[in-house]
Amino acid sequence: MNEYDSEKTVDILKDKKNVTVTDSPEDADIVLLNTCSIREKAEAKVYSDLGRLRKLKEKNPNLKIGVGGCVATQEGKNIMKRAPYVDLIYGPQTLHKVPELLDIKKESGIKAIDITFPIEEKFDSLPSPSSSGPSSFVSIMEGCSKYCSFCVVPYTRGDEVSRKPEQIFDEIARLVEQGVSEITFIGQNVNSYMMPLNGRMLRLSDLIEISSHIEGVKRIRYTTSHPLDMTDDLIDVYKSVPQLVSQLHLPVQSGSNAILQKMKRNYTTEHFIDVVTRIKKTRPDLRVSSDFIVGFPGETKEDFDLTMELVNLIEFDSSFSFIYSPRPGTPATKLNDPVSLNEKKERLSILQATLNSFHHEHSVQMEGGIERCLVTGIAKKSPDQLQARTECNRVVNFDFTNSDLIGNLIDIKIEKALANSLLGSIHKN
Ligand code: SAH
Repeated sequence: MNEYDSEKTVDILKDKKNVTVTDSPEDADIVLLNTCSIREKAEAKVYSDLGRLRKLKEKNPNLKIGVGGCVATQEGKNIMKRAPYVDLIYGPQTLHKVPELLDIKKESGIKAIDITFPIEEKFDSLPSPSSSGPSSFVSIMEGCSKYCSFCVVPYTRGDEVSRKPEQIFDEIARLVEQGVSEITFIGQNVNSYMMPLNGRMLRLSDLIEISSHIEGVKRIRYTTSHPLDMTDDLIDVYKSVPQLVSQLHLPVQSGSNAILQKMKRNYTTEHFIDVVTRIKKTRPDLRVSSDFIVGFPGETKEDFDLTMELVNLIEFDSSFSFIYSPRPGTPATKLNDPVSLNEKKERLSILQATLNSFHHEHSVQMEGGIERCLVTGIAKKSPDQLQARTECNRVVNFDFTNSDLIGNLIDIKIEKALANSLLGSIHKN
């Protein structure tokens, strides 16, 4: 999401301020820090980065420094107080206002700060999308109204707002014109999407179905979704839409119902297993990845064992796992947390070792098989190879120099599973 926000901020600045992007802060007239506050002491990192930028500003007094993203929402005016050389502060929902904020002169006495949540206005003012390759994100909703007890998102990005379907389809059509063939619907909870069109309420399943008829859309993904909103209609599109990949990222967080309840997730592990089982009926090859939090306040050894049981049952693919990190203003910070950090670290390493071994095992299982892959570009390490992605989103490198293949779906024979990628060759029928 942050990557997407950064790209949009650049698009807006290119559109309104005619900027070009540089890799080196020393050459820049504007430096924006797009921050994340989902875990850890992100605030501390922002202040240390700002300390470095201050030196650049001493050399170049015209340099404009801005802080955006969720730390900006949380810290707000504190940043201006602690780092008065910062010129502008904006949140994830006001990135479209960066050009205006840049125009405010310090001498005017007006504070260049806007951390409100005008989400619809933001959607309305995003410039025409520009693609950078055959795969593109399409934002369909913003914010979150689930209020999980550990999570800062509703406070930093605001409550859920869905984007107008016309805007979404228009954006997809423009991206396809530019050669995009894979779209990933993104948002905090994409499967809680709900917006009317011509008197009918559209959900994520409808967006997937309708987009699959836009010529040139060869693959569809979505992230992140919430287990509670995996409704029947969404499970059904796995039957009716072949472009929807057989890969699902569905954050479960824990395998213990007691912990899920304390997290305020509002589902049980049984529900999670049922969703996966039902999709697998139509897609036996479905790969499921997830997010896990270990060491949530009060998590016992038994709770953790239940998480491991679930991991072994589902055999999750490439997943993310984290030690619980107390976030300012969230209800979970008030819970009693007797488990030591060492114990939490140990649980995390047990979990990660198992997740990694499933990931590797799945890669090895692919050896010798044929995978339908989207060719995404030239391989990172070798100009004589092209790079493609499997449905389960693994990188496959294969020998071929004809860049015309980029953007196409082709069959690749998987020759070898490496630690972070696969080696393949074009499959000739
Ligand atoms: N919308 C998704 C969450 C996306 S945030 C959902 O509701 O499941 C990405 C991941 O960060 C979460 O799935 C969770 O595993 C992790 N996370 C969020 N808050 C956290 C916290 N306070 N401590 C540790 N991990 C956290």
